[in-house]
Amino acid sequence: MNEGTTNGSLSWNTHSLLTRGSLSMEQFPFLEARFPVVRLEDFLPAVAGKGLEQILQWYWDLLDRKVNHNGNCNSRTRIPPALLRTEGDFIEAIKLNPANRFEYVRVVTPDEITRDECHDPSRLGPPGPAYVETHVGEELSVREILCTFCDEPDWGMDQDLFDIDRYGYGPAPFGGSTGLSSQAPFHVAFLFENPLLRWLVPSLNQSFLEERVRISFALARLAFNCGMDYWGWRFTAWGLHYLQDLTQPYHAKALPFFEWRMISRIALAGNFTEFAKKNKNLLRNRHLLFEAAVHFLVNEAFKNGAGNIFVPPLTRGPHPQPVVLRSLIRNAVKHASSLAHRIDSGLINLMADPKIEDPSYYLGDDVTYRIDETLPKARRDRPDQFERFIAMVHRGLSNAGALTRLVVACAQGSSLLFNDA
Ligand SMILES: [Zn+2]
Repeated sequence: MNEGTTNGSLSWNTHSLLTRGSLSMEQFPFLEARFPVVRLEDFLPAVAGKGLEQILQWYWDLLDRKVNHNGNCNSRTRIPPALLRTEGDFIEAIKLNPANRFEYVRVVTPDEITRDECHDPSRLGPPGPAYVETHVGEELSVREILCTFCDEPDWGMDQDLFDIDRYGYGPAPFGGSTGLSSQAPFHVAFLFENPLLRWLVPSLNQSFLEERVRISFALARLAFNCGMDYWGWRFTAWGLHYLQDLTQPYHAKALPFFEWRMISRIALAGNFTEFAKKNKNLLRNRHLLFEAAVHFLVNEAFKNGAGNIFVPPLTRGPHPQPVVLRSLIRNAVKHASSLAHRIDSGLINLMADPKIEDPSYYLGDDVTYRIDETLPKARRDRPDQFERFIAMVHRGLSNAGALTRLVVACAQGSSLLFNDA
């Protein structure tokens, strides 16, 4: 048994398993190529003067245009790229959470654990039983780097940013300004929301996700060009995370349930801020429950090994052609949006838990809730509903799998997706 599993419960984060499953049938030799771990402080001087300055300038202009378009003031301060020496400098330059630090780890593989490993619902990043520390110079395969760091944007880097005036992101358009929900505007894009809802709540139109994808791929390209392959694949994994997020229906649709009834309630309430305050748990509970359910199910399937029900949809989805990034994003959101209503009602019918629809209850605060108990029970009690729900999840995952394979192939070939970024 791996030393990371000694506490008796382990679960991988979902992006890691989506990436592992999506690439499981791929025979690309480059996925097994191995590259040494390089600390960020050693990466920065290796790329200084080789394009980092231009990338940062371009990225800051990109953010300025977005923030000005949103009508917020531009109070951003810029760090001369020549002064980028430390991890803190880099975090400031990319406008990430200054309290966050980069971890040097790899995620354990299914072969490294026992099959009876029980479920850990925490979904926390490293350190944790799913991760093993790595050291400078230690070699990791491209597959390991991708499977590890495609979860990294969920480890805190995009949280607590709206209260940092010098970053200039402006006020949080939705979610909170601190904590987990504050990363939402960087991880969701409601591009196909109901037009009336968009008019009633214009802040839902705001998203920084595309800028996050673009800077991730631009840095990846720079790293590859400078022979810094570890960081090239780590930044590719970041971009992959944001794109995979868009295949999740609750990241693509703000209100996937009772749309017209809910919209008329918002319109009648008049004050959206007050309405959102009173009803935010209705949406948050479903979003969290869906992620907890998929997290549990994909972990269970990977721990069981043979007969993993999620590998076929992840590996056999349609192959999107390389297109400009904006089209890729729009297509991903469109597909997820089209599934959102059926996934949402399928989830509610399957779980049949009145608590989830109680606006005074917040699943995120309920430490007693055990998805590894409620979901197997729901599967036993309502097998037909479970089958219907899984069929819809498979449709979402086929999109995630196709995107993953496309991004990884483009990263290797420096093709159109990256040129556009
Ligand atoms: Zn995310």
